[in-house]
Formats: sequence, C-alpha cells, structure tokens
Amino acid sequence: ATENKALITLFGATGDLAKRKLYTSLFKLYQRGYLADHFALLGTSRHEMSDEEFQEMVLNSIKDIPAKDGEAEAFSKHFFYCAHDVTKPEHYVKLKDRLTELDKQFGTEGNRLFYMSMAPQFFGTIAINIKKQGLLTDNGYNRLVIEKPFGRDFDSAKKLNDELSQTFEENQIFRIDHYLGKEMVQNIQALRFGNPIIEALWNNRYIDNIQVTLSEKLGVEERAGYYDHSGALRDMVQNHIMQVVAQLAMEEPVAFTDDDVRVEKIKALRSLHVYTPSEAAANFVRGQYGAVNDQPDYRHEDGVDPESGTETFVAAKLMFDNYRWSGVPFYVRTGKKLADKFTRIDVVFKKPLIDIFANPDTADKQALKSNVLTIYVEPNSGFGLRLNAKHVGQGFTTEPVDLNFVQSDTAKKESPEPYERLFHDALEGNHTNFASWAEIAYAWKFVDVIRNLWDIEKPQFPNYTPGSMGPAAANELLARDGRKWVYDL
Ligand code: NAD
Repeated sequence: ATENKALITLFGATGDLAKRKLYTSLFKLYQRGYLADHFALLGTSRHEMSDEEFQEMVLNSIKDIPAKDGEAEAFSKHFFYCAHDVTKPEHYVKLKDRLTELDKQFGTEGNRLFYMSMAPQFFGTIAINIKKQGLLTDNGYNRLVIEKPFGRDFDSAKKLNDELSQTFEENQIFRIDHYLGKEMVQNIQALRFGNPIIEALWNNRYIDNIQVTLSEKLGVEERAGYYDHSGALRDMVQNHIMQVVAQLAMEEPVAFTDDDVRVEKIKALRSLHVYTPSEAAANFVRGQYGAVNDQPDYRHEDGVDPESGTETFVAAKLMFDNYRWSGVPFYVRTGKKLADKFTRIDVVFKKPLIDIFANPDTADKQALKSNVLTIYVEPNSGFGLRLNAKHVGQGFTTEPVDLNFVQSDTAKKESPEPYERLFHDALEGNHTNFASWAEIAYAWKFVDVIRNLWDIEKPQFPNYTPGSMGPAAANELLARDGRKWVYDL
C-alpha cells in the first residue's frame, strides 16, 4: 500500500458517526498501510477536551478491532483536538494555527482534507470560513468530504452547493453516499462492463423490468427527530436509490475513470422521465407503518409528531426517456419495519416470444419462467441467475433453476467497509464513488415533484403492517402492469 500524506480536519469529532464509523475506518487504513507516519487528524466540536482525552475517545472507538501490540496507541498519537464553535469566525484562527503546526510536525505536505460530519445547517458556514480565515494551503491539495443530507429539495441543495463553491471547486468536493461504498454496488460496473453476455442483453429488447429493493427491518429508533422531518423519499430515494439506478441505467463509460463514469451517470439521470404531478400520483406509493403487538405505530414513536404525515415507505415506477430503456420500468421500493433487512436488485428478462414447451393439454400454458439476474447487495454479497431447465426424469417439463454465487466469508471479512473505502478514495482524489452536483440536482428535481404533491395531499396513514413488504398499493403498482415483485412474501 502507498501511504497517503494528509492532514484531516474533522468537524463533528465527538458525534455518533465519527465514533462508530470514521475512526474505525481510519484505523483500518492505518493497519493496511494507506495511512502511516505522515498523517494527522484535528478533531473539532463544541465540547472542551484535551488532546489526550480525544485520543482516549479514539482508542475507545477502535477497541474492538484486532490489532498488533501498541498499534492502536501509535495510531491514536496522530489525533489532536480543538474545541470550536463553527459559527464563530474567530475560532477558525485557532484552527489555522494548529493546522500549520501539525502540517510541519507530521510532514503532510500541505494536503488538507476537511470532513464535515455534523448537522447540515452548518456545512455552508464552515466552507465559507475555511476560505475566509485562510485554512486552505497552496502547496498541497484542499478537499472537502461532506456527509448527507445534501439539501432537502433542489433549492436548498443549490444554495448549499453555491456556498461550498465559494471555497471548493467541484473536483475538490466529495459528497458521501455510503451506498456507493458497498462492494456489490461497485460490482454493478464489473458485472455490466466486464461481461459481454450481460451487457449485450442490457437493454429494452431483452429486459422486461428492473427492481431495486432497500429494505429495513428496524423502525426509526433514535433518529426519529431527524427522520420525521425527512421521510423515506428524501432519506433513501433521492440519494441511495437514485445512485443505484444511475449505475444500472448508465451507458458504458469511455474508460473506467471517475470523470468518464460521472459523465455517464449524469446522462442517465438527465434522461429519467420527470413526472407531471398526475403521473407522479399514479407512479408513486407512500406508506407509514402501523402498530404490531406491543410495538407502537410510527406516530407513537418517541420524537414523532402524533399526526405525522411522514412516509416510512416509498415504492415507485421510474421510466427513462432514452433509446436503451424506453418502455422498461425500474420499480424501486424502500421502507422501515419491513419483513427483513436486505438490499437487492432483480433484473427480470423478457420471456421467449414463443413458448414451444407450453403444454396445451394442461393448465400450465406458460411453462417458462422469466430469467432473473439478482444482485445481492446485503447482507449477503453475490449474484443469482435464474434459468429454465428440463425437469429431471421421463417426459419433458421445464423448471427454473438458480445459479448462485455468494462471496465467501473470508472475502467478506477482508472487504473494506463502505466508509473505509470512501475515505481512501477521497485521500486518493478519486471521485468514482461520490455523487456529483449535477447528479444531485437532477435527482432533486425528479423527487421535488413527488414531494410537492405529497405535501399537499393528506395521506391515509398508517397503511402497512410491520413485517410485511409495505402497503398493498406497492404490489398493485406492478400488478396493473401485469408484473410482480421478484422478492415477495
Ligand atoms: P451528532 O449529532 O452525533 O454529532 C454532531 C457533532 O457536531 C458533535 O461532535 C457536536 O459536538 C458537533 N457540533 C454541533 N454543533 C456544533 C457547533 N455549533 N460547533 C461545533 N461543533 C458542533 O451527528 P452524527 O450522527 O455524527 O452525524 C454527523 C453527520 O453525518 C450528519 O450530517 C448526518 O446526517 C451524517 N450521517 C450520520 C449517520 C449516522 O449513522 N450517525 C449516517 C449517515 C450520515
């Protein structure tokens, strides 16, 4: 591994995300040699704390990761702390001085990575002050890594982007969408562009429909306050689902570089058919979970408005206006308190035009089933391909058989977590797995139509039972097209 020389400034260093994901990811990069002697992290938040206390906190976050003797302690010595109120310009001067010191001490050669992991209303202010108060360097790189959510509609996202742009160029901004850090989401590209037998069929001549499911088993838990102001459409569809759909729908890039991939994803999202309000009403379904046994319905969860109209479930039919996908629906769904926790993509191929195996004497006039390619994103990583084969024995009937590839436990264990992968990409300056502004803008414009509609019309909630796959309308969305969800209860 090549060492990345970098000085990281982390805004929100005492936060939940930092403690659960960021320090552990950095430690793994350190263990693998991607970070070594020439890196340091300056953590900030409002709390007063010494460097030593901060180092203790970091050690505590990584305590469950197996390590060599002294490795964790040596790692923690790269962490420093500065209490800081991001709204006070004078505080940035203190940050600046410490960064200058640390840069010298650790030989980070002017490479600065600013990571924003706090409430999004501060993102713009921090970016503006980073420049105004002179925290940028001339000799190395200046990069910004920024957490979700990126706005709550197109207008607020644009405002945020304009603020960030006062300090950082587009190619210096890394917008985190942790779904893009998942092994099997990245594998979509390998599967499509590495296999002629797949890519040759990847169009509206052979594909009947594509289904994307991001299913959660848990309810809102402790994020209720945030979630109730967001809802599944903003929290999951605008970002994660749109990014997965863009990877499935994009044309082949000229080369596998971040710029080339980005261009194609933008083109894909641009060709997504933006619904009129009446089309949106027909093609989007929302849901909110009800009560079950001793568990309250969504409206009675702690921190939720008892009359909340926030959706905890979304299903939709998306259409592309382009040559490759014209006429092929992309059905997507996501929700809380569903049957299980998993993410999968089902690509349903068209049936043969003529079924020569159909038996006119029996009820089974359509013996052949659709071929289905399934990409299992989580909890298992792998692929499945459903084919029709002859049923073993006398006579001639067909039955579907599944070819399955599941990544081994060893491969899974060695595979970096999304945050580790994305952190590394940002250190390397590779944008492939980050969302560009143009992608985000198209995704918001698409989603805003539905949001506006839903904000006006009062929903009939609750409308689905925990442990199901959402409201009945999510099944009707496909049934009216003569289709079904491949994953069904
Ligand atoms: P958090 O509330 O746990 O932490 C926020 C941090 O910001 C704390 O360190 C706090 O001290 C600091 N802070 C707040 N106001 C400040 C101010 N005025 N000046 C200086 N520091 C201040 O938040 P979190 O859960 O860690 O989330 C951080 C970001 O990551 C958010 O953008 C969130 O949407 C995103 N995110 C979080 C998760 C998660 O699992 N927690 C998952 C995905 C994305």
